[in-house]
Amino acid sequence: MQNRPAPEAVSEPLADWQSKRRPSDVPRARKCLCCHTQFESQWSGERICKRCQSATAWKQGWGAP
Ligand SMILES: [Zn+2]
Repeated sequence: MQNRPAPEAVSEPLADWQSKRRPSDVPRARKCLCCHTQFESQWSGERICKRCQSATAWKQGWGAP
């Protein structure tokens, strides 16, 4: 009679660790701080949609000497 842990028991801590990842780092839909449009944010720090990001980029490019 063997007394090994079942494969499910071994893999459980890993699955548990994955489920405890910070949800803020997961890509999810957020509202743009600039235009308040919902967009797919890749991480918690991305708060501005692609459109506004590019708009800001060219504004800065134009405004800078
Ligand atoms: Zn925006």
